[in-house]
Amino acid sequence: MTVNLLDFDAAALTAFFADRGEKPFRARQVLRWLHRFGQADFAAMTDIARSLREKLAGLAVVQPPPVIADRLAGDGTRKFLFDVGGGNAVEAVFIPEEERGTLCISTQAGCALDCSFCATGKQGFSRNLTVAEIIGQLWQAQHALGGWAERPANGERLISNVVLMGMGEPLANLDNTVRALRLMLDDNAYGLSRRRVTVSTSGLVPAIDRLRDECPVALAVSLHAPNDGLRDELVPINRKYPLRALLAACQRYLERAPRDFITFEYVMIDGVNDSDAQAHELLALTHEVPCKFNLIPFNPFPGSPYRRSPAMRVRRFAEILLAGGVVTTTRRTRGDDIAAACGQLAGQVRDRTRRRSSDFVVQLLPQEARA
Ligand code: SAH
Ligand code: SF4
Repeated sequence: MTVNLLDFDAAALTAFFADRGEKPFRARQVLRWLHRFGQADFAAMTDIARSLREKLAGLAVVQPPPVIADRLAGDGTRKFLFDVGGGNAVEAVFIPEEERGTLCISTQAGCALDCSFCATGKQGFSRNLTVAEIIGQLWQAQHALGGWAERPANGERLISNVVLMGMGEPLANLDNTVRALRLMLDDNAYGLSRRRVTVSTSGLVPAIDRLRDECPVALAVSLHAPNDGLRDELVPINRKYPLRALLAACQRYLERAPRDFITFEYVMIDGVNDSDAQAHELLALTHEVPCKFNLIPFNPFPGSPYRRSPAMRVRRFAEILLAGGVVTTTRRTRGDDIAAACGQLAGQVRDRTRRRSSDFVVQLLPQEARA
């Protein structure tokens, strides 16, 4: 049976070569070809003995998920749709800015957590993505953007940051997420510093602890409400891991890296969670956690029940948090003309939870087909 080498992090690749009597440096060489140069063809891996290249060709493949749509928004945001088989497709979004280029990638086809304001959640859940499907989004985006070329003189990379904020809950697919993260950080692969890779979670407490132990990258926590009553409604996983437990996990996460902070994401929904009183409540709730706030104006999607908070309201909410001494940024809405903004990613998902009718999925298909 052939294996997909994109499923392997450095440790797995070393074990794969060891099982075949090959030295660990072979694994490093292949890792570099795959993830530093984007090479999928064994024949082109010229510093590896021809006999080994031929052996590899019989044992393994290099198979990222195919790109089935690639759309550019007016603001330069670029959205990729990947076929992950079985009627499922997932999305990644590249967001170019002056100082950096951020790739936002998916970790699951759909999401089982059903947050009330999220397009992905409304689709239901199909399955976890494999390591090859997670890292393959980065691999394919680098190809599409021309990012494998030599770095320019200023050392800047086209994709300088990766955020796991696309479709799905990364910590509900922890094992594969951690392997993909290790590839992002590996000097023989993407070599990103751990502060340039961010995992966003809705708050799976035991998995936050495991991430801290296994691969402590930057952590963003989707808070969205200043108390359990409202958070139970917006982020149903809160009923299992309420705010006290979540904030304690945030504190533990920072114990190993005292100069770090948690980014609290907060979707601004008109009349739901955006009052002055709620801003003050939020400050009181989080005052013991070294943190920043990132306010995300709600992005509507077909059938969504909410409205975005008016710009003045977002500004006022931010002012209160700032006056309380917490660095607060407001996320600029990017790529919403191609449904690439936060919470709009929907790809295409074969829901296995049977929670939703398939109408929603069908609605999204024609839009993607136009790409
Ligand atoms: N499952 C993870 C990561 C994916 S969602 C999480 O929930 O954190 C990435 C971010 O987009 C989260 O902060 C999420 O709350 C936010 N988001 C979801 N739906 C949104 C919407 N309709 N408008 C704006 N942000 C949204
Ligand atoms: Fe899942 Fe995150 Fe969407 Fe909630 S906000 S449904 S956890 S992807």
